[in-house]
Amino acid sequence: MDNVVKKVARVLLVEDDEDDYILTSDHLSQLDSHLFEIDWVTNPTEALEQLSLGEHDICLLDYQLGAYNGLTVLETASKNGCSIPIIMLTGQSDETLDQSALAAGAVDYLVKGEITTSRFARAIRYALARQEIENERVERINAETQNQSKDRFLAHLSHELRTPLTSILGYTEILLNGNKAPDAKSELNIILNNGQHLLGLLNNVLDLSKIAVGKLEYNFSKINLDSFIADIFSLMQVHAADKTLKLVIREDSPLPLEIFSDPIRLRQVLINLLHNGIKFTDQGQIELSIWTEFVDNKEVLAFKVSDTGQGIPEAMLETIFKPFEQVEDFISRKEQGAGLGLSICSELIKHMGGSIHVQSLLNQGSEFTFTIDPGDIITQERAILAFEQKHLPSYSLSFPQLQGQVLVVDDMEDIRLLIGQICLSFGLKVTYASNGLEALEQFKLATAEDRCFDIALMDIHMPKLDGKRTIKQLRELGYSKPIIAVTAATMKGVKQELLALGFNQIVAKPINKAELHRSLKNYLKVENPPNTQRVLVVEDDEDAADVTVLLLGSLGIEALKVQTAKACQDLLNKESNWTTILLDLHLPDANGLDLAESIKQLHPDITLILVSGESVNEKTLTKAGIDKAILKPINLEILKNLI
Ligand code: ADP
Repeated sequence: MDNVVKKVARVLLVEDDEDDYILTSDHLSQLDSHLFEIDWVTNPTEALEQLSLGEHDICLLDYQLGAYNGLTVLETASKNGCSIPIIMLTGQSDETLDQSALAAGAVDYLVKGEITTSRFARAIRYALARQEIENERVERINAETQNQSKDRFLAHLSHELRTPLTSILGYTEILLNGNKAPDAKSELNIILNNGQHLLGLLNNVLDLSKIAVGKLEYNFSKINLDSFIADIFSLMQVHAADKTLKLVIREDSPLPLEIFSDPIRLRQVLINLLHNGIKFTDQGQIELSIWTEFVDNKEVLAFKVSDTGQGIPEAMLETIFKPFEQVEDFISRKEQGAGLGLSICSELIKHMGGSIHVQSLLNQGSEFTFTIDPGDIITQERAILAFEQKHLPSYSLSFPQLQGQVLVVDDMEDIRLLIGQICLSFGLKVTYASNGLEALEQFKLATAEDRCFDIALMDIHMPKLDGKRTIKQLRELGYSKPIIAVTAATMKGVKQELLALGFNQIVAKPINKAELHRSLKNYLKVENPPNTQRVLVVEDDEDAADVTVLLLGSLGIEALKVQTAKACQDLLNKESNWTTILLDLHLPDANGLDLAESIKQLHPDITLILVSGESVNEKTLTKAGIDKAILKPINLEILKNLI
C-alpha cells in the first residue's frame, strides 16, 4: 500500500468542539482512499470565508456551531454559488433536520456517532468523486471556451490578413498586366511571388490549426478525373516550364471517368506534391502516375509524384509528415517554407480514406505515393484518359479573347507548351508541331479534314526542317494565312530577312505575353461578348474595394463600390439592375450574411457572392441566400471564373 501514491483531498472541517475535531480528523486520516489535508475553522464567518475561496474538495459542517445553526452557513454558501460538496454532521439522528440539510444544498448528512462506520467512508468517497466530476466539467467548459475564442481569433486574424493581401496582390497584378510600370516588372513579380508565398503560409497555418481541433471542412462530390487532372497539370506545367523541367503524366491502365472525393483537398495535395517536386528539382522531370489498386479487398485510387531532384536525407524521411519539423533548421535552409505542407497533405489524405508514403535517394530524386478512397468505382466506366485541357486556367485574363486556331511550331517542348498555354489563355485553339516537317504534316492533315489554321507561330532554328524552309514549303502547299516568326534573333538584319521570306511579323523570345497578344490581334478576330454585367462591390476596406472594382473593370465589367450595408441598400432602392453583388462578411454597420438575407428577399435575381477572410459553412450560406462564397484575397482569375 505504501508505494501507492494517494490522491490528496483538501477538507474544510467546520467544528466548534475541539474533541470532535480531533475525532473526525483522526478518522479521516484512517481512510485509505485519499490523503486528507484538513483545515479547521470554528465559526460560521470563517467557514463562509473559506468556502468562498473554493480551495477545498469537501467540507464537513457541524450542525450546531455554538449559538449558530449550520443550516444558515449552508444556505448562504449555496446562495454564494459555492460548488464544494458539503456534508452536514449532526449530533443525533433527526429526520426533519436531515431533510432540511439536504434541501439547503448538503450532499449528505452524517450522525457524529457514525463516523467510525463504513457509511462515513462511503459518504466521503462519494462526495469526493462527485467533486472530481464537477472539476472535470468545469475544466472542459473552460477548454471549450478557450477553443471557441481561439477559433474566433483565428477567423478574425485570417480576415485581417486577407484583406490587405487583396490590395497587395490585386494592385501588383494590375501593374503587371498594364503598361503603367514597364520598367518594374521584375520587382513587381517579386512582390507578387512573396505575396502569394505569404498567402500560402497563412492558408497552411489556418488549415493546420483547424485540423488540430477537427474543424477543417470537407466537401465530397463527384469529380471528373480527366478534366480535374488536366486542370492541375496545365497549372503546374507552367511552373515546371519556368525551370525548364518536364512535367509528365503516366497512366498505364484505364482509369474511372468519375470518382467521389473532396476536389478541393485532393487538388491541394496534388499541387503541394507537384510544387515540391518542381521546387527541389533542378534538372530532369516530374512525373505524376495514376492507377488503381486493391487494398484490403477495396479498390483505391493511387497517385505517385516522382522527381529527379535533390532527394531527402534519410533522417528527415521519418519526420517529414510531422508539422513544424522543418522549423528547426529554418535558418540553414535555402528554400523558404515552414514545413507544414506535407503534414497537411498527410492529414487531408487520411480524411480522403488513404495514406501517404515517401521514398527518396539523395541526389537522385523523391517519390511520394498516396492512395485515396475514390468511392464505389467498381461499376464505373473506365478509359485511358487524355487529360484534355478543358478548363485551362487563364494566364492573363485582362487580354481580350481572340478567336481562331493556331499552329505552334517549336522544337523545344517547354517553349512550345508555354506558347501554347498563352494562346489557350487568349481563347485560341492550339495544335502543336515540334519541327517544320511536323508542321507540314499538320497542315496537310488539317486541309484533308477541311480545317484551316488561322495563324501559325513558328520557331526559326529547328532540326529536320527549319523555319525558313518550312514557310517556303507551306506557301507552296497553298497556306496563305499569316505566319509569325518567334525567334530570339531579332537584330535588324535578321528581321528583314524573315519578312522578305514571307513572315508577316516577328515576335521576340523570351515571349512577352502582351506583345504576342498584340501581334495575334492584328490578324485574328477579337471576341467581343456583350458584357451586360453590373457588379456592386460592398466592402468597407477602401483599398480592397478599389482594387476589386479595378480588376472587374479590366475584365470589361461595370463595377461600383459602396462601403456600408446602408449605402448598399440605398443604392439598390434607386437602381436595382445589378447582376451580381460581392459582399464583404464584416461591414461596419451589418453582418454580410444579414445583408444578403435582406437583399435576397427583395431582389431574388441578383447573384450574391460572399467575400470573406474566413470560411463560412454551407448551411449558413444557404440560409442567407448566398450563391457562392470566395476567400480573400480576390484576384483576376477568381473574378473571371466567377463572373
Ligand atoms: P513547406 O510547407 O515548407 O513547403 P513541406 O511540408 O511541403 O514544406 O515539405 C517539407 C520539406 O520536405 C521541404 O522543405 C523539403 O526540405 C522536403 N521536401 C519535400 N518534398 C521534397 C522533394 N520532392 N524533394 C526534396 N525535398 C523535399
